[in-house]
Amino acid sequence: MPPKKRRCKDCPEDSKRPAPYPGPRCATCHRAVKKRRREAAHELAVQNTYGLAAGDYAKLYRLQGGRCAICRRATGATRRLSVDHDHASGAVRGLLCRPCNSMLGHARDELDFFIRAHHYLFNPPARRLRGDAT
Ligand SMILES: [Zn+2]
Ligand SMILES: [Zn+2]
Repeated sequence: MPPKKRRCKDCPEDSKRPAPYPGPRCATCHRAVKKRRREAAHELAVQNTYGLAAGDYAKLYRLQGGRCAICRRATGATRRLSVDHDHASGAVRGLLCRPCNSMLGHARDELDFFIRAHHYLFNPPARRLRGDAT
């Protein structure tokens, strides 16, 4: 009798999908399990690191429309959005993409940084050099 081919343990009984990998699942179910484990690990990590309650990350993500709260472009599909927090109080502020989070780090949470940046873009020094602005 030939060796019985292993079947995926997560697929329905009548499924013909083989489980040729070291694990007991087909490629699709294997990926799904890995994704669930990765999400569970991330959930635990943000709870332990930032004191978020269970499900808070997902709630924040939905609250922000599934985008970085600053650039509103990054969705976290490629790289999960970071939990941004106030370094002084430790309070969580929201979810940001890496570039936006780094920008806040560069600004060192100094509000005037962004006011200066706003003025800079609005009235660049080089324009004043040419004397075509105030
Ligand atoms: Zn399967
Ligand atoms: Zn961003």
